[in-house]
Amino acid sequence: MPQKIQQPVDANPDVVVVGAGMAGLAAARELLRAGHSVTVVEASGRIGGRAWTSSMLGTVHDRGAQWLEGGPGNPLVQLARDLGFTDRLDSEDNSGYIDGDEFTNSQYDQLDTFYDEAEDAVVSVSRRVAKGAPDQAVSEVLGKASNPLKRLAHAQIGPLDAGVELHRLSAYDNGRQPGGTLRLLREGMGTFVQAYGSDVPVRTGTPVRRIDSRGKRIVVETDSGSLTAAAVIVTVSTGVLAAGDIKFVPALSATVQDAIDGLRMGHLVKIAVPLSRSLSEEEDFTTLTAISGGMPIHGLLHAWGEDLAVLMVGGDHALHLQTRGEKAVIDFAVRALVDIYGDDVREPAARAVTTLWSVDPFFLGAYSAALPGCGKGRETLAKPVDDDRLIFAGEATDPKWAARVAGAYTSGKRAAADASRVLKRR
Ligand SMILES: Cc1cc2nc3c(=O)[nH]c(=O)nc-3n(C[C@H](O)[C@H](O)[C@H](O)COP(=O)(O)OP(=O)(O)OC[C@H]3O[C@@H](n4cnc5c(N)ncnc54)[C@H](O)[C@@H]3O)c2cc1C
Repeated sequence: MPQKIQQPVDANPDVVVVGAGMAGLAAARELLRAGHSVTVVEASGRIGGRAWTSSMLGTVHDRGAQWLEGGPGNPLVQLARDLGFTDRLDSEDNSGYIDGDEFTNSQYDQLDTFYDEAEDAVVSVSRRVAKGAPDQAVSEVLGKASNPLKRLAHAQIGPLDAGVELHRLSAYDNGRQPGGTLRLLREGMGTFVQAYGSDVPVRTGTPVRRIDSRGKRIVVETDSGSLTAAAVIVTVSTGVLAAGDIKFVPALSATVQDAIDGLRMGHLVKIAVPLSRSLSEEEDFTTLTAISGGMPIHGLLHAWGEDLAVLMVGGDHALHLQTRGEKAVIDFAVRALVDIYGDDVREPAARAVTTLWSVDPFFLGAYSAALPGCGKGRETLAKPVDDDRLIFAGEATDPKWAARVAGAYTSGKRAAADASRVLKRR
């Protein structure tokens, strides 16, 4: 159940922050630390946004963000440790299957080689684009793959990682994002973000409908009344912005609107399936890579020794399944597990759960992915508008850590610094 957090909030603070995901919480914390008054307004009934840990299955699992990516450079690794959270590296154990048949040793090697080659090619194009060459779609960089393992390697870059098909993915933007090791938090990413933001004043269950910045103070209209502020930080996803669910007065410029439209939401759906280790016989923390019914699938098995498989489906297929509802998503995942581990997994799998991020109006996707030629939109969206008083933050606005909780965090801090400058000149 989403928890309700209602704290006394100021309807006329220095800054209103829209959205209580990591970006909004980071912005609010920075501003509070600097002595400013802040109110965060959040549409849903909980804080954390796309970081949401559930214990529905009697064990901790993340419905959204899970991994701390990008190696030790990820600023959240130390932050989580400072807050008393336990982390560890993702393991090296991999299991791969094509329609239920385990890869041969040479297929494991081939997949690694195809993936490394593809990643190197995208990074090298990205570096050339940074020096002035035109951007390309990742599909153009990688070319067509007839070998199923090569297709799987390419899917690991596109649908399974970026959440989009390769022809809708900017090589420039994808190639500039950090690689490196992955870490997991024992208590869950959502628990961490929630702990980080626990002292922030948030008005939950309050969707913002309109932001009017024509007057001396910006007016933020919500379903339960208006607030005013000297500056407003908007952290909702580019999916929510593109859907026009928040009306801006005056309307956003064509430059800002183009940036939003170029930073489309990728789709990733996760399915948590009870799976005992005796049935799968896989090691704890095994990474699962598979093709099931012709579609790529990714997973993590028995993290922290739990009897649980977390499976992921990405890109167009993830969107398609989600529009058909929870049952369609879960059925696909369970079928993949049955193909691999046999019919006995079916009964416990009946308790599987999923989260339909792409059809939830407060998210409309998993995370942003730049269309070819649109990567610089992140920098554009990060520039304050309307006399610098209207500031966008959120993962989509961070060029380095885009699509990640770390990007939400750094963008929130950046937005707080921008808002502080506005407050100083009053
Ligand atoms: C399935 C999935 C897996 C992921 N895996 C990873 C991972 O392993 N590692 C990683 O680093 N990242 C991962 N991510 C991405 C990560 O979750 C996001 O990048 C990050 O959490 C975004 O934070 P944010 O603050 O920018 O936005 P959000 O978390 O989306 O916060 C914005 C908030 O705004 C609220 N809102 C929306 N509309 C309104 C409105 N009208 N009025 C008021 N509030 C509104 C929303 O409810 C939300 O709480 C994953 C995401 C998903 C969905």
